[in-house]
Amino acid sequence: LFENVPLAPVDPILGVSVAFKADTDPNKVDTSVGAYRDENGKPYVLKSVYEAEKRLLGAPKEYLPIDGIPEFNKLSAKLLYGDAMNGKEKRMVTVQALSGTGALRIGIIFIRKYLPAGTVVYVSRPSWANHHNICKESGVKSAEYTYYNPKTKGLDFEGMIADMKAAPNGSVFVLHLCAHNPTGVDPTHEQWNVIADVMREKNHIPFMDCAYQGYASGDLDYDAYSARLFLNRGFEMFSAQSYSKNFGLYGERAGALTIVSHREDVIPKMLSQLKMDIRAMYSSPPTHGARIVTTVLSDPELTALWVKELKEMSGRIKDVRQKVVDALAQLNVPGSWKHITDQIGMFTYTGLSPAQVEILVKKYHIYLLGSGRVSLAGLNDNNIMYFAKAVADAVQN
Ligand code: PMP
Repeated sequence: LFENVPLAPVDPILGVSVAFKADTDPNKVDTSVGAYRDENGKPYVLKSVYEAEKRLLGAPKEYLPIDGIPEFNKLSAKLLYGDAMNGKEKRMVTVQALSGTGALRIGIIFIRKYLPAGTVVYVSRPSWANHHNICKESGVKSAEYTYYNPKTKGLDFEGMIADMKAAPNGSVFVLHLCAHNPTGVDPTHEQWNVIADVMREKNHIPFMDCAYQGYASGDLDYDAYSARLFLNRGFEMFSAQSYSKNFGLYGERAGALTIVSHREDVIPKMLSQLKMDIRAMYSSPPTHGARIVTTVLSDPELTALWVKELKEMSGRIKDVRQKVVDALAQLNVPGSWKHITDQIGMFTYTGLSPAQVEILVKKYHIYLLGSGRVSLAGLNDNNIMYFAKAVADAVQN
């Protein structure tokens, strides 16, 4: 019966993690997966999350409503859109989702069903590889827009704008709110303003992928600039929020999808359709992660503690960037490495070639993506010099 099932390709990110776990070398370093590690290389449960969990001990395990915890949905929209909401909540619908991936998935299915047939979803080149998978599995055509310039290791802004202009009117553009994965390259606020102008001219629809709010600058409002700009400029838009990184809730699958319409009267209908899709897919979302987020965001003291911890996590990553650049300079490694400190968020797109990556992996047991993407969270004072020496060897040989 099943002899014709072909072997699916290994996920490029999760496959590297598996290889890391299987490696028995004592010096091995994991810079592949996008999960925070503390200065000792250990996973970290935020104190604000721990405190919320203490309060939640014994909470009922009953099913949640199909669209999740109402308070969680309100707090999520408020966290992302902040003051830009300003009465617009009547034209917004938010549903709890299985983290960022689940929010993207429900949103893309909604696009297939209710946007004009043939609407194309444009994804940055490069992007988190799952964007294309989600579109494909949801029966939506995806295409790419120019984003990264390998020569400057920065944004190819002209290329991006040209591709936005060339796309058919009314296309969907998946835009990373901040801390672009995998490149760590974000548009400046001025560039976002121009992007909004062009998107407006072309009637494009922003789909904000918000996996790192607070993780880039350590400032939740600063990081939300692009989403708030689009809302203020009157766009109909989508946003997928993930609490995996900023709350460290990876496995709890806490997230939210928000869709903004021009009209208030369509919101109950949109919600009814989202609920129908969710009911057929997984019936109702998980309780624990969303309860943690709700507990933290509805208590000013816990919120303050969370914000402090976000600043500490993003601050450590910035320190690591500087220390890597300093170590490479100390070893006189040829080339400019300034992009490592220019880029932002959890990742740096090192610019290492696949052959150089192979040297890091095979000879040094340092695991990173074939594209040269390094998760800086995997580095700390104990392994930065080892990492820099490996890069020096890879670059010089
Ligand atoms: N979008 C981007 C750009 C991401 O980097 C991630 C996490 N790797 C996600 C979405 C979704 O992650 P999750 O499903 O864990 O929230």
